[in-house]
Amino acid sequence: MLHKKGGIMVVLSSPSGAGKTTLVNLLSKKNNYYVSISHTTRKPRSNEINGKDYFFVKDDEFKRLINNDEFLEYAKVFNNFYGTTRTPVIQGLEKNRNIIFDIDWQGADQIKNKKLNYKLVTFFILPPSKKILFERLSNRDMKDKLIADERMKQFDRDVLHWINYDYVVINDNLENCFHKIENLIEAEVNNGSKDYDKNFIKSHIDKLLL
Ligand code: ADP
Ligand code: 5GP
Repeated sequence: MLHKKGGIMVVLSSPSGAGKTTLVNLLSKKNNYYVSISHTTRKPRSNEINGKDYFFVKDDEFKRLINNDEFLEYAKVFNNFYGTTRTPVIQGLEKNRNIIFDIDWQGADQIKNKKLNYKLVTFFILPPSKKILFERLSNRDMKDKLIADERMKQFDRDVLHWINYDYVVINDNLENCFHKIENLIEAEVNNGSKDYDKNFIKSHIDKLLL
């Protein structure tokens, strides 16, 4: 087996509103976990800070980064571009830091296909139900109901990508969900036994898609 070096890469993806950013923030409070800060052409939300939540850039700057081959991955999501620059990620991993990625399925696929020589664990987060997802989206994007509607429309398509992830977790109770993620990472790193029921996940997805 290929020897994996440095820190580990942890990817969290989800249909919008399932709670991935909240979980990423919790994970980032753990010792030696660092969040990869993406570049995006999206406009900042009122509570977002440039350089902390994202690097907010104009289209031409994003294009320049693409042309300079600076992205480890990038994708168009909801009419905006999002991407992860390579250098900070590799530098962190080489310093044995664990890097967390809050990216969509397209980015997760690209990172997986790169087959970097660092351990990679990927998670797909699901809401307990569509009703709860809509409530969470409406609360978060209160100013713009259209955003919540648009992201709900995307849900059935996004959910289909669960199959490409190592683990799917349901974010019902936040604390339980976070512990599940922590335990699965721990089991992956130490080759421990995993508390994971794929059949239960499959039946939950069937219910979400009804
Ligand atoms: P995402 O990053 O997946 O789009 P967020 O992390 O922004 O989602 O979460 C969407 C909204 O739901 C936020 O307002 C967040 O505070 C809330 N939220 C996240 N997880 C839970 C949970 N387990 N229970 C209740 N509310 C939650
Ligand atoms: P939001 O606009 O809600 O912050 O993010 C929208 C979507 O873009 C989310 O699914 C988020 O995970 C994804 N995203 C954020 N940064 C990146 C990135 O660097 N690359 C990719 N591929 N997706 C990203």
